[in-house]
Amino acid sequence: MGASGTGETVLAYDEAMAAYDPVMGLEVHVELNTATKMFCGCPTTFGAEPNSQVCPVCLGLPGALPVLNAKGLEGAVRIGLALNCTIASWCRFARKNYFYPDMPKNFQTSQYDEPIAFDGHLDVELDDGTTFRVEIERAHMEEDTGKSSHVGGATGRIHGAEYSLVDYNRAGIPLIEIVTKPLVGAGDRAPEVARAYVSALRDLLRALGVSDVKMEQGSLRCDANVSLRKRVSDDATSSEQKAVPFGIRSETKNVNSLRSIERAVRYEITRQAARLAAGRRVVQETRHWHEDTGVTTAGREKSDAEDYRYFPEPDLVPIAPEAAWVEQLRTTLPEPPAQRRRRLQTEWGFGDLEMRDVVNAGATEAIEATVVAGASPATARKWWMGELARQANTRGLELSALAITPAQVAELQALVDAGTLNDALARQVVEGVLAGEGGPAEVVAARGLELVSDDGPLIDAVEAAIAAHADVADKVRGGKVAAVGALVGAVMKQMRGKADAARVRELLMERLTP
Ligand code: ADP
Ligand code: MG
Ligand code: ZN
Repeated sequence: MGASGTGETVLAYDEAMAAYDPVMGLEVHVELNTATKMFCGCPTTFGAEPNSQVCPVCLGLPGALPVLNAKGLEGAVRIGLALNCTIASWCRFARKNYFYPDMPKNFQTSQYDEPIAFDGHLDVELDDGTTFRVEIERAHMEEDTGKSSHVGGATGRIHGAEYSLVDYNRAGIPLIEIVTKPLVGAGDRAPEVARAYVSALRDLLRALGVSDVKMEQGSLRCDANVSLRKRVSDDATSSEQKAVPFGIRSETKNVNSLRSIERAVRYEITRQAARLAAGRRVVQETRHWHEDTGVTTAGREKSDAEDYRYFPEPDLVPIAPEAAWVEQLRTTLPEPPAQRRRRLQTEWGFGDLEMRDVVNAGATEAIEATVVAGASPATARKWWMGELARQANTRGLELSALAITPAQVAELQALVDAGTLNDALARQVVEGVLAGEGGPAEVVAARGLELVSDDGPLIDAVEAAIAAHADVADKVRGGKVAAVGALVGAVMKQMRGKADAARVRELLMERLTP
């Protein structure tokens, strides 16, 4: 919540890396996009009036009985399969007991030692094109908690607040928690691996269609566990290095952007290294990430033996997914995002850097749809990475949220190709479409943006320009061909931009050269 924190002493990153080897564990919570909650029929619409999407089940009223959402289970199994996990042939829910105001039941329905999916992996591509395998410990089903707002304090946290409000609309929304094994061998690339993993996981979940994966809205959240151990070998993947016992970890909670994950892991490495180098201990605790100051601060101390008094949930039947159903779900898995990226790059003929920029801008889907609608890959890329990216940026929107469809972009480019519009006019058409004036053809008609294709008026303007700038015309006649640019400019101005500059140039040269 933007609360600023004061950082501790840190060691320079290179120094930290020279002395220590980082180990990471990433816990990602993803909210499924089911229409209803995990154990009741309440809707899950984001941003609804507080406490308008609740019922006796998700409020934990006595006697209310939960029923598992079949779509929630299906999402969990598909995620497990996409992460190359084994799907449990039999498992149960468990009650995780704790008391907190945002959890009306006083227990969270979760899974404990019997997760629906376990022992998987996700291969993650790093910036230099190499692949790092992230081993997945488990993916389990649970439910989200409600949301507290602490009002009146400076920090938005409970400390110093005047009062607190709680909204239970989120309580009971299906969550899948995906937990990695301790990741070793990343060495100084640990922060990059953390970002690349969450990015790849987000792409995968989006491709599965199970979540809207909006980190800024909290439908994808990441906790980053980091510890350091002594470096005994320059090679982070050597067996000597892997034999060194793990250090004590901190757990930085709810980091909510890819960039922050990388920064938070990096910060934790430098903070823990400074403590260890000074002969101090790392405390096993949760920590908060502060986006503004780029530091983490201590949350609560956390012991391994924290007693949640887990026990099997008596109100829900065990889950025993039939093998045939699981195999049927396996056939619904999307092409893995990294593979799809490579395929599209080849089909489109983009360079590595071009493709990386497209992916980073989140423009892959838009370009793909624009190409399907008939545009060439190069022109589709030009629009989405150029003018439309700029428009999205000034409006603070994602590309996909712009009020122009890929089909409209393809239509616009077709008008350019047909000579109806030049680039400058096409940009005005974009303005019109974004302003809700209709599709490209309608905007062209309503704003009168069509290029003058008839040579008649063009020739008049060309002759007028030659007469008005006789000195320039003489230069061109004398062989200074570059000077014709000024005449082209004069004609374009006269035509208020609605002329094809190449044709104007042609007409001028016909008149000024033998
Ligand atoms: P908790 O309930 O404390 O969050 P979890 O088992 O849910 O524990 O998750 C712990 C995460 O931290 C896992 O990803 C695990 O692989 C990782 N982890 C465990 N030990 C260490 C360690 N010493 N250093 C870094 N990460 C660790
Ligand atoms: Mg955890
Ligand atoms: Zn409910």
